[in-house]
Amino acid sequence: MAPATARDTRPSSSLDLDVTRLPGIGLESKKLLERLEIRTIGDLLWHLPARYDDFSKYRPLRALVANQKQTAIAVIGRMTQRRTARGQLLTEAELFEEDGTPSDVRASWFGRSFVKETHREGERVRLSGDVKWVGRSLQFSQPALERADAEAVHTGRLVPIYRLTEGLKAGQVRRWLHTAIEGGPRRTAIVGEVPDLLPAQVRERHRLPDIASALRQVHFPDDTARLLAARRRLAFDELLVLQLALAQRRERWRAQAKAMPLVAADDALGRWTAALPFTLTGAQGRVIEQIRADLARRVPMSRLLEGDVGSGKTVVAALAARIAAASGAQTALMAPTELLAEQHARSLAALFGNEGPTHALLTSSVTGEPRRRILAGLADGSIDVVVGTHALVEEAVAFDRLGLAVVDEQHRFGVRQRSTFREKGDGLDPHLLLTTATPIPQTLNQTIYRDLDISVIDELPAGRLPIITHLRTPDQLAKVWEGVRLAVERGQQAFVVTPRIDPDDTGGEELPSAIATERDLGRGELRGLRLALMHGRMAAKERDDVMRRFAAREIDVLVATTVIEVGIDIPNATVMVILGADRFGLAQLHQLRGRVGRGADRAYCVLVSDASESARLAAMVEQKEGRPLNGFELAMRDLEIRGAGEFLGTRQSGAPELRIVDLADVDPQLIDETAREADRTLASDPSLERPDHELLAGAVDQLWRRYALA
Ligand code: ADP
Ligand code: MG
Repeated sequence: MAPATARDTRPSSSLDLDVTRLPGIGLESKKLLERLEIRTIGDLLWHLPARYDDFSKYRPLRALVANQKQTAIAVIGRMTQRRTARGQLLTEAELFEEDGTPSDVRASWFGRSFVKETHREGERVRLSGDVKWVGRSLQFSQPALERADAEAVHTGRLVPIYRLTEGLKAGQVRRWLHTAIEGGPRRTAIVGEVPDLLPAQVRERHRLPDIASALRQVHFPDDTARLLAARRRLAFDELLVLQLALAQRRERWRAQAKAMPLVAADDALGRWTAALPFTLTGAQGRVIEQIRADLARRVPMSRLLEGDVGSGKTVVAALAARIAAASGAQTALMAPTELLAEQHARSLAALFGNEGPTHALLTSSVTGEPRRRILAGLADGSIDVVVGTHALVEEAVAFDRLGLAVVDEQHRFGVRQRSTFREKGDGLDPHLLLTTATPIPQTLNQTIYRDLDISVIDELPAGRLPIITHLRTPDQLAKVWEGVRLAVERGQQAFVVTPRIDPDDTGGEELPSAIATERDLGRGELRGLRLALMHGRMAAKERDDVMRRFAAREIDVLVATTVIEVGIDIPNATVMVILGADRFGLAQLHQLRGRVGRGADRAYCVLVSDASESARLAAMVEQKEGRPLNGFELAMRDLEIRGAGEFLGTRQSGAPELRIVDLADVDPQLIDETAREADRTLASDPSLERPDHELLAGAVDQLWRRYALA
């Protein structure tokens, strides 16, 4: 954000100059840099190191150890160059200790003719790099090399490692940045021209270095402490701008919000709950009261409903829709797939009973006259609830009085999601309810989801037995199919999930496919049972038909791909067999397992895989208090296994891509500090009009434009 702002507001700064104005960058390099989206000197300054090599500690040659990166000061002895058997140029140098004492240590380089051209015997140099055994002596292999009296850029310090592109050399990029940061012999450093977003008193309050020294230390750190302080400063800027943007949006919404208050009388709500086929859990009851209180206000609800798979989120949404309908408002219930939309439509029919709200299913397979009727009914208000996919409802539907939007199983909370619906309701802001089975990291709750209220269903419906999970290898499958047969004989149903659709698709012989598995089981181990196939290449209508037959118990065993991953609800299904289980992610496995164990009968999940050492599969069979790990616990495991960065990729979360900060993995303390600073700044200057806020305002603007967050 910062460099872009600088460009916008200070067109005459050297930061805007083309990179070729920096000594050493020619047209060739310019083209390569463009691939990294570096066009100006300012862009280059914001090309931050991906990591560092710590070459800051010196060792005498005699104290070097093998298989470590190290730095030494040495005197170059005899240098030789020759071609290896494979035709590569090999340069070798003998090395003496700093004081001239001979040593066994040598240095060698492949392909680097310039080493011999630019250095000579007797020269004192600094070498940094890998040290290895070669024969019976230690060698620096491909070390970076600088004259000992030259400024340390590539050796003898914390050395920055930059993201490169083919054709660019690490040493080149580092040299260019060094020039921009430290200046050449006769020029002043360009880094001094980077404007500081932060007013001085904010910097002081949070003990942050100024921007020029922060950038200098991030590229060429004096030591680790200063590097960390510099990174904290850059992260602070980024988070502060994000917090300001979000706070301003929140304020704008609050000021402009015009939601319909939706209310239902106690006795009406009591009647609806009593008519349900089950008693609500305590958690469901509590959550419904929270939602009910929100709906009654003129401020639009923004609530996230978190609950593990099978915790019963659908009925909560259905009751919210009922409250809306009772107040004369329409509800849009959006699911991620057509299959789920179809299932929700069936659930609503069951939950609403006969005298409930009128509802309709709108998917791409509803066409012609029925479709026209539904669209007309939504436009004139005669249909209370529409169920469809996100895309469909967002794009194609006009409502008479949209009062409530429910977004089911939305893991990709686009930051812009909410604004989409704000425009739907003919001058009204619908209340918004998002549901998810994926817990959201605290750091996101404090930033991009800070304006979401959160309700949690932390209790499964009573009478559920914990699912029993087994790990099996493919050669134990005969036993597994026997188990499936037994379940079917008890009148229950089973899922068999495979990692791919067609045996002819890529993946090798071994990888189970839905088509081959269904065919083979039907002829073999599960002969005589009623099998069916479902996968993503079947038409939506066909899939719906299979699903309906499975729900009606006309099918015993459904062989499928992950199309059934999310949300499918068949309480009579008690066995989930997952073939090639190591091919699935932990969240996926948890979702798949959640398809069974939804009724009163004992349910089983069998993970079939050769990969006995998989940490994910181990997490799936881990027990806690006599039950498998729940969604939240598994998400934490996933975090341990995969590392924080990957847990919630920014793309997946719909969060802006920040330069320094990984929102899934940032210090919560810093988030808190920036949130408070943003509130404080806006309290005194709500539209960021003060001159000392000019640069901040520019950066916020830039963020809006980049991500269309508004
Ligand atoms: P999810 O939270 O995963 O969306 P669902 O809403 O699909 O879960 O509910 C899972 C199953 O549990 C459904 O079959 C539903 O009818 C049933 N269910 C929901 N609430 C209760 C309850 N309080 N008691 C018993 N069964 C319930
Ligand atoms: Mg659900």
